[in-house]
Amino acid sequence: MPDDVVSLFSDTGTQPTAAMRAAMAAAEVGDEQEGQDPTVNRLQERVAGLLGTESALWFPSGTMCNLVAVKLHTQPGDVVIAEAQAHVVRAESGGAALASGVLVETIRTARGIFTAAELEAAFDRVHTVPAPWGAPAGLICVEQTHNLGGGSVWPLDALAAVADCARGRGVPVHMDGARLLNASTASGVPPAAFAAAVDSVWIDFTKGLGAPIGAVLAGSSAFIRRARRYKQLFGGGMRQAGIAAAGCLHALDHHVERLAVDHAHARLLARGLDAVDGIRLRSPEPETNIVFFDARGLGMSNAEFLDRLAASGVRMSSIGGWIRAVTHLDVSRADIDRVITAIRDIAHSS
Ligand SMILES: *Cc1c(COP(=O)(O)O)cnc(C)c1O
Repeated sequence: MPDDVVSLFSDTGTQPTAAMRAAMAAAEVGDEQEGQDPTVNRLQERVAGLLGTESALWFPSGTMCNLVAVKLHTQPGDVVIAEAQAHVVRAESGGAALASGVLVETIRTARGIFTAAELEAAFDRVHTVPAPWGAPAGLICVEQTHNLGGGSVWPLDALAAVADCARGRGVPVHMDGARLLNASTASGVPPAAFAAAVDSVWIDFTKGLGAPIGAVLAGSSAFIRRARRYKQLFGGGMRQAGIAAAGCLHALDHHVERLAVDHAHARLLARGLDAVDGIRLRSPEPETNIVFFDARGLGMSNAEFLDRLAASGVRMSSIGGWIRAVTHLDVSRADIDRVITAIRDIAHSS
C-alpha cells in the first residue's frame, strides 16, 4: 500500500493544523467544572451568538450532547420519535435507553428528512392506545445534516413544518446538528435560522470543522442550567478544557467558509464515480460532504472493492450495505483526482 493514504473514511479523521495546534498551545485556561475556563467561556458565548440561543455549554463529545438533551427533554417511559437511521438511534450504543429509559419510534425515509405528515403518522402510531396505556411521545429528534441519509440537508421550511407539528402536540424538538454548519454552507440558510425552529441544538467541532475535541449544546438559559448537572453526572465535566476549546474557536475562525470546498470535492467525486460503468450512486448529487455508492456492478462485493481500493492507498467505509466516502479538511482536489483514477483502474481490471 502507498505510504500516502487518502482517507475518505470519515470527516472525524482530520489532523489539527499547525495553526490550530499553536492556538491550542497558547490558550488561556482555568477550571472548566467551576465555569472558570476563559477560553471555554468564550467558545460558549460565540456558539450561543452563532446559533442565536440564550446560552450554550461545552461538551467533550456530540454523543454526550445527545445523551444529555434526551435526558432533559424526556421522562423515563416516554417515546422519542426519530428517523430510523438517526445517529441517536443507531450509533450511540443505546445511550438514550440506558440514561433516559425511553422507547424509540422511528420514521423510515430515503434521505433522513421526514415530513410533517410522516411525523403526524408517527404520533398516531405512538398514541394508538390512549393514555394511561399508551406511552406518551416526549421528544422529536432531527439530524442536520443527516449522516446516513447521505449528508442531506433539512430545508428550513421542512424543518419548520415538522416543528409546528410537534409544537401542536406540545412536544419539543431536539436537533443533532453535528454537521449543522455544513447544512448552512450548502443551503445559505444561517445556522441561527435552523436553530430558531428547535428547542435545543448542538454542533460538533470534530467533523468537518477539523478540531480534535469538543461539541457545544445550545438552548434556553433554563435548559443549559439543567444541562450542566447532567454533563457533570455523566462525567463530562472537564478541567483545563480551554486547550481543546481554543481549537474549536480556531475552527470557527478558519474552517467554516472552507466547508464549501469539501462539498465541491464531494460533487467532483460523485461525478467521477458516475462516469464509471458498474458504480451506482445512491443519490445523483451529494448535498454536502458525504457520498454513498455501490460497486457491486463491477462484479465484486463492496468489501472486495474496499480492499482493492485500500491496496491503492484509498480508504472508505462500508455502512448499511453502501460504501461511504466523506470529504474533509485533509482531502485536496488532487486527492479526489487520485481517488477517481484508482477507482477507474479497479473498474478496468475487473
Ligand atoms: C459524529 C456524530 C455524532 C456524535 O458525535 P461525537 O462527537 O463523535 O460523539 C452524533 N450525530 C451525528 C449525526 C454524527 O455524525
